Amino acid sequence: MSSRGPGTEAFAPRLLAWYARHGRHDLPWKREPTPYRVWVSEIMLQQTQVATVLSYFAPFVRRFPDVAALAAAEVDEVLHRWSGLGYYARARNLHRAARLVRERHGGEMPGDIEALTALPGIGASTAGAILALAKGERHPILDANVQRVLCRYHAIDGWPGQSAVRKRLWALAERHTPRSEVAAYTQAIMDLGATLCTRRRPVCALCPLENGCGARAERRQHELPAPRPKRERPQRRTAFLILRDAGGAFLLERRPPSGVWGGLFGFPEGVPGGDLRAECERRFDVEVKAMQRLGDLHHGFTHYALDIEPHLFDVVRRGSELRDGDGRIWHAPGDALEVGLAVPVSRLIEMLAPGTR
Ligand code: SF4
Repeated sequence: MSSRGPGTEAFAPRLLAWYARHGRHDLPWKREPTPYRVWVSEIMLQQTQVATVLSYFAPFVRRFPDVAALAAAEVDEVLHRWSGLGYYARARNLHRAARLVRERHGGEMPGDIEALTALPGIGASTAGAILALAKGERHPILDANVQRVLCRYHAIDGWPGQSAVRKRLWALAERHTPRSEVAAYTQAIMDLGATLCTRRRPVCALCPLENGCGARAERRQHELPAPRPKRERPQRRTAFLILRDAGGAFLLERRPPSGVWGGLFGFPEGVPGGDLRAECERRFDVEVKAMQRLGDLHHGFTHYALDIEPHLFDVVRRGSELRDGDGRIWHAPGDALEVGLAVPVSRLIEMLAPGTR
């Protein structure tokens, strides 16, 4: 592992001067940067582009303006408001953490790194960002954007997920963080990574760090940071059992709290190749009148790829009404739905009953 680039003196002043002129000052979470709003925005921005977060942040904080409102909400509603942002563990952790803040800290976001990182979903970088952006305290951050900038500027080889590389990056992040204007600096380095030092096409000609950037000097911008070593992604297959009653309502089932689409509602699943018709009649107390195999869907997760066989069953319900709390609902498209749906499920509903959700 090598590292180069000039000392610390020029790094922060150049970034700050650039940020004053070219930073994205109009992002909604930069207005009123309370610890709560910074926290929500940082969690939304993990693994999600700014353009997508822009359409979720304002409605979310309007509905849940503070920790108390988020803690008081049901997790279903939080997941519902998160539907489409993906990586739902983030929403579940946000909600769990809000309840812990209510219990342990009287509803106020804690003011120190240790208490913040003890909350679910808050790592050292997010905790640093909350304290730096909301309170101007000097804490380094190392999110994906900052990691990319530092890897390139210092021409650091090795995958940043490796602990030796990570340690080195934290030390550099600490060294570059200035003693004053910490909030502006933190925004600046995140903005630089998001707008100029981008993953695919870094715009070095406009970058305030161009003089002194190791990757630029060695023409290795496209090699750095080194990607995660490749692993074969396993392929899995499942069948969606789409039960539609005579009124056009679909049967939805709550998924287990952890794992893929944890806590969201979706179609029940069956084993591909099995007698799915008999399974539906047995499991859901219905009579199947007609069945149809729909085209396969493919969904990629970080750890595996999922092939989905959707099977549509037109059914007559035999009786037993579903009760609250049994984890199943019959949902008529067009009716308000205050639970989170897995993305392929909302796509299938939209396809089968266009314009109703
Ligand atoms: S000069 Fe290019 S590679 Fe180096 S920090 Fe700037 S944008 Fe990134």
